[in-house]
Amino acid sequence: MRQAYMPADLEDLALFLRGLPGNEAVYLVGLGSNLLVRDGGLDATVVFTHRALREAAVVTDAAGGEIRAAAGVACPKLARMAAVNALAGAEFLAGIPGTLGGALAMNAGCYGGETWNLVQSVRTIDRAGVLRDRTPGHYTIGYRSVVRRCREFPCVPGEDGRGGREEWFVGATLRLARGDSAQSRATIQSLLARRIASQPLGQPNAGSVFRNPPGDHAARLIEAAGLKGYRIGGAAISAKHANFIVNEGGATAADIEALIALAQQTVCSRFGIELEREVRVIGEAA
Ligand SMILES: Cc1cc2nc3c(=O)[nH]c(=O)nc-3n(C[C@H](O)[C@H](O)[C@H](O)COP(=O)(O)OP(=O)(O)OC[C@H]3O[C@@H](n4cnc5c(N)ncnc54)[C@H](O)[C@@H]3O)c2cc1C
Repeated sequence: MRQAYMPADLEDLALFLRGLPGNEAVYLVGLGSNLLVRDGGLDATVVFTHRALREAAVVTDAAGGEIRAAAGVACPKLARMAAVNALAGAEFLAGIPGTLGGALAMNAGCYGGETWNLVQSVRTIDRAGVLRDRTPGHYTIGYRSVVRRCREFPCVPGEDGRGGREEWFVGATLRLARGDSAQSRATIQSLLARRIASQPLGQPNAGSVFRNPPGDHAARLIEAAGLKGYRIGGAAISAKHANFIVNEGGATAADIEALIALAQQTVCSRFGIELEREVRVIGEAA
C-alpha cells in the first residue's frame, strides 16, 4: 500500500496506525527538510505531521519554563515562542527549517545549540497507537544522531524506518532557563543574518549534506578538493556553501546521489577522511 496521510489529531493518528496491515511500512515526515527521496518514490505509507500535530503551550515558573509542543510544530515557531516568553536557549531553532519531530529524530542543532540539550521528555506513539512518555535516558544522543537504547527498544529500525519495534515522536517538553526577551530576539536576528549570508537559501536544498568530521568542516574539505560549483545534471555543489547541494533546475535524486558519492570519494582519496551523510536518503531508484 502507498498512501500519504495527514492526521486530524493524535487520536486520529493512533486509530490510523492501529488499522494498518502489520507488514505495511510507515514513514513519518515533518517538513522533509533533511530528506532526499529517490526518483522511484517511497513504497510506504507516509504520515505528514506538519499542519497536523500543531499544539504548543508555554508554562513559566521562577527558574524559567517549559514549552510543551506537538511534533508537527515548526522549529522557528518554538524559537519565537521562547523568546516572546523570555525563555533562553531555543534561539538556534529559528534557523532550522523543520518540525519538532524532525529535530528530535535528527538531534538538529547549530551555533552551539542542540535539540536534545533542551528535552525534558518526549511522547512517542507505536504501531498499535500506544503512547509512551520517555526521557533522554531512553536514547543515546550524539551529534545529529539519536539512537534508541537496546534494553528499551529490543529491535531498532534502519535509516529508512523499516523493521524493528517502531516508535515515532508525537511531542516533547522542552525545558528552558529564564532569559531576556529582547536579547533572545536579537540573537535570533543575528543567527538568521549569518545563515542568509552563508547558505544558498534561495535554491532548493536539503541542508548540510554531510556531518562535520571531528575537528574539521565538511564544507572546507569539499572546497579544498576542488568540488565547489561542480555539477551533475541539474544538481550542483553550491558555490556559496560547499556542504550544500542545490537543485539548479530539473535535478533528479540520482544526480544528487551521484554528487554525494563523488564528494565522498574525492575527499577520501585526497585527505583520507570519510564523509558521513547527514541528509537521509530514502526510497527506490527509478
Ligand atoms: C536550508 C536548510 C538549513 C538547515 N540547517 C540545519 C541546521 O542548522 N542544523 C540541523 O541540524 N539541520 C539543518 N537542516 C536540516 C533539517 O532542517 C533538520 O534535520 C530538521 O530537523 C529536519 O526536520 P523535518 O521536520 O524537516 O524532518 P524531515 O526531513 O521530514 O525528516 C527527517 C528525519 O526525521 C524523521 N522524522 C520526522 N518527524 C518524525 C517524528 N515525528 N518522529 C520520528 N521521526 C521523525 C524522518 O522520518 C526522517 O528520518 C537544514 C535544512 C535546510 C534545508
